[in-house]
Amino acid sequence: MMSVTRVTTEALQQQIEAIFAAAGFNAAQGGAMARVLTAGERDHCKSHGIYRIEGTLRTAMAGKVNVSAEPVVAPDDGSALVRADAKGGFANAAFELALPALVEKARRLGMAALVINDCTHLAALWPEVEAITAHGLAAMVMCPSYATVAPTGGTKPFLGTNPFAFGWPRQDSDPYVFDFATSVAARGEVELHRRAGKQLPEGWALDAEGNPTTDPEAALQGAMLPFGGHKGSAISTMIELMAAIMIGDMTSPEVLDYLGTTTLAPRHGELILAFSPEAFARGRAGDPFARAEALFEAIIGQGARLPSQRRFRARAESAAEGISLTESETAQLERFLTQ
Ligand code: NDP
Repeated sequence: MMSVTRVTTEALQQQIEAIFAAAGFNAAQGGAMARVLTAGERDHCKSHGIYRIEGTLRTAMAGKVNVSAEPVVAPDDGSALVRADAKGGFANAAFELALPALVEKARRLGMAALVINDCTHLAALWPEVEAITAHGLAAMVMCPSYATVAPTGGTKPFLGTNPFAFGWPRQDSDPYVFDFATSVAARGEVELHRRAGKQLPEGWALDAEGNPTTDPEAALQGAMLPFGGHKGSAISTMIELMAAIMIGDMTSPEVLDYLGTTTLAPRHGELILAFSPEAFARGRAGDPFARAEALFEAIIGQGARLPSQRRFRARAESAAEGISLTESETAQLERFLTQ
């Protein structure tokens, strides 16, 4: 039987911080990345937990992310925008620095946007969403990626897997949060099918000639497809417009040109929007938070589950019993420290 070790969130975070410090990351970069990857592992999001350490280190070794960057938040210009320059570092370090200004503006003005430029983003988006809902604000977060997805009706990789996440704060329970790629599945899923010798479901991918394929090898040479056909394709295009072109940063095709590979983490910008539900609902009947609860109850009442409920259950389990790591994961963490 596979042996499993249980570690506390704090212990795992310290271990990941030590790995990044040994690789030359400064405290801002290493700390922010350790926090999001630990959170991924804690919440049983294996694709965005310690699995990402290797890619993070590979991107650093290739010189494609500045692991000693000190992000900067621009002085307040009186607008609803907060501008953070990640200085070529990870988006998460810039986000942590800029969050107080975003929250303050969203509360004062009713809504505010945080623009992060010149950053690398390889993490899940829900940690950023939850950092905002924790302040009683609703949030939307989006960023491009690199060109691996064909637009619906197209034949070649052009859009990124472009994740989109939303959060709504709840007073007495975990927030309502969803967070997903706008591709039909994560690219890693295609790779996992290839390794397992399994065919892909229909509708996931095109081969290099632009024909539909269920062969994972052919799909990796070709393009993935957006979720929901033309609807996902349009949302993904919106993300290229809002979180790349509008904020003066790289689009997914430009990111791929810059990196020349999909084996390193993408560098681009990120757009984060924060809304005060009370400010929007002011003067109207009904408390928006109470009305939201009635909405959630009606959804759950049909037998549906809310997004992130699986994650919050996993979080509670990790808090009670520790985060479980397999023998090979523990060995891998030790190897990273001594590499
Ligand atoms: P999924 O398709 O797994 O969907 C995830 C979301 O849907 C979660 O909020 C999940 O909640 C919810 N969900 C799943 N099943 C149900 C259900 N039956 N009922 C209600 N809600 C449900 O996500 P993806 O594979 O598309 O994306 C995974 C992660 O990858 C995301 O965190 C995303 O940010 C990240 N990503 C990051 C990129 C980057 O460049 N930084 C690029 C692309 C993706 P729950 O977790 O509780 O199951």
